Amino acid sequence: MKLSYVHLYSSLLSTSFLAKKVSTYLHEFVPFIDVDVRSFTNYFRKNMIEEDIEDNMMIQLSHEVNANTSLGELQNSSDDTCQKMMIIDGFYLQRIYSRIMDKNEMQLDHLHLIFEDNLVCTYDENDKRYHARPIICGSPSIISISSIIEGPAKPKGYYFKQMLKDLLSISSKEIEKEFADNLVRYDDPRLIHVATGYAIQAIFFFLTNGNPFCSQYPCRLFNSHWQEELIYTQVINPVLCKEHLRILTEAGK
Ligand SMILES: [Zn+2]
Repeated sequence: MKLSYVHLYSSLLSTSFLAKKVSTYLHEFVPFIDVDVRSFTNYFRKNMIEEDIEDNMMIQLSHEVNANTSLGELQNSSDDTCQKMMIIDGFYLQRIYSRIMDKNEMQLDHLHLIFEDNLVCTYDENDKRYHARPIICGSPSIISISSIIEGPAKPKGYYFKQMLKDLLSISSKEIEKEFADNLVRYDDPRLIHVATGYAIQAIFFFLTNGNPFCSQYPCRLFNSHWQEELIYTQVINPVLCKEHLRILTEAGK
């Protein structure tokens, strides 16, 4: 099946700007695909009925609860404040969006890609933990801006210093500043390039019949588990490996 359309959706002003920038990069990357930016509110929220919203998709976890989960690291990035964190189960969210999508655009030549502001997670039965997921591929695909920031691990030295900051007499802000080049922040201009990389992965999910990730490093489709890998593959050296370049070339014919 040939992918012909990519529809980008955003919900807030911040992600609206991001979606427009990503669409510009995608125009260059896949000029043979028609890319447009749509209003999330107009397309989805007006059709969302109450039972969808209450469909158990919102899972509230306090730091006390998630201290023993992979999300425990969020405590470190919250600068000593003990605040409640709202996370969303990615597969529930995807199922709800798929119910209210225009059935005329459900064919495999349409990719719907939603930029989500909230933290999107999935539950891993193996380790019994929720993990932040920057991307959920499928129809629709979801890219979580918060999960890009909080999902891939920060440098080891960052966690080490956060753990010992009282002993070292340094603040979280100083640590953030020291590691600024090696991790992506919410106000980081590199976030647009990283989000574009995830959008490219969502496209390759369709081009490869469900295999959006690559084991070759560096490749834009590399499944980065560390912020440093993410920055290298999406910002410093954003290239495709030979095989994925071939697949892209074939798709454009
Ligand atoms: Zn590759």
